Amino acid sequence: MYQELGGNLSEIVAIDITHHQLPLDPPFPASWDPRPRTRFPATIVRVTDADGRVGVGSGDVMYGFDDYASHFIGQEASDLAQHAARLANVEFHAGRPWPLDIALWDLAGQVEQQPVWRMLGGSSPTLRLYASTAVHRAASETAEVARRLIDDGFEAMKVRFGRPSVDDDLAVLAAVRSAVGDRMTLMVDCNQGWRMPWDTARPWDVERAWSVARELSSLGVYWMEEPLHRGDYEGMAELRSRVRDLGSMRIAGAEMTREPYELRMLLQRGCLDVFQPDAVCTQGISGLAEFGREVVAAGHLFTPHTWGNGIGVLANLHLTAGVAGEVGSQWVEWPFDPPEWSLDRRDYPLSSPLRAVGGRVTLSDEPGVGIHLDEAMLARTLSMKATFQ
Ligand SMILES: [Mg+2]
Repeated sequence: MYQELGGNLSEIVAIDITHHQLPLDPPFPASWDPRPRTRFPATIVRVTDADGRVGVGSGDVMYGFDDYASHFIGQEASDLAQHAARLANVEFHAGRPWPLDIALWDLAGQVEQQPVWRMLGGSSPTLRLYASTAVHRAASETAEVARRLIDDGFEAMKVRFGRPSVDDDLAVLAAVRSAVGDRMTLMVDCNQGWRMPWDTARPWDVERAWSVARELSSLGVYWMEEPLHRGDYEGMAELRSRVRDLGSMRIAGAEMTREPYELRMLLQRGCLDVFQPDAVCTQGISGLAEFGREVVAAGHLFTPHTWGNGIGVLANLHLTAGVAGEVGSQWVEWPFDPPEWSLDRRDYPLSSPLRAVGGRVTLSDEPGVGIHLDEAMLARTLSMKATFQ
């Protein structure tokens, strides 16, 4: 649908990239990172057109992108398909440049005076959320978190594995299940698909994942996320076929998968039930809109990873509302695990945090992605680096 845009012409005149770091005191002990995080980095991309409109994106760090900016400046802002094709080439040569795609969609929406979810063909701006927790807590504390989430209106929650002993992980999950009964849908993230650069632990193999999967299935888990390395296609297909015999548990993954052919291989080889590529890290809204429709058409769920700041959450919500809706996504990730991961921390680049009401979020009718930056906060957190320490 984006190829049809361009009725209102507007030329790109500038691309500005800034890095920011929010100090985290106390630190944030993310379960998938062996090092507690003392800073939360955010890279903000602004694309300005000749009429002074500014589109905003965020997500990956955009290191080295300056060398490629000239291939976008002077071009028609709304030519999103052409930009996406060039960004795919930049990704091959440099890094993940997709925050610019988000900024271009935000700008195109302002030019067209349409919210992105509607530009993508969405019929409803409301999505159902799952609270995506991050911290390893004791069993009783995690059960208490689940009870509080129910009080806040959440009907689904993702629990993190990755403690030194899987038995401890399973004990926590069992405590949560016994606290919430069938009032909550539970997901489990095994975080075996990729590692932080300093984490050299080996991923699980099929037999290890299978032994965990049987336990998860017996506790009524809705999806098992990243049980194997991202490139273990054979293992995922084998695990998924075994898990199917257990009942209704799904296999989820592909949150940082980079290339379109990799995503399509996962689809063609029957590796996953739930596809989670994140638009701010992978192919942008342009590439994932097409892939998301393929996933939904094949009868699977499309529900992006959104772990990052509020701009990334918003971009992925627009994408999901636009191409999958509640039926095709079922639940969308809402990073939330206070006090360590509060909305104030998560959404610090925004003038006010995004709001969930009754476990749901409703996107506005504002043109573009509807991003309102907290310029004073961005000035205070300006940094030369985009690292976690
Ligand atoms: Mg994950």
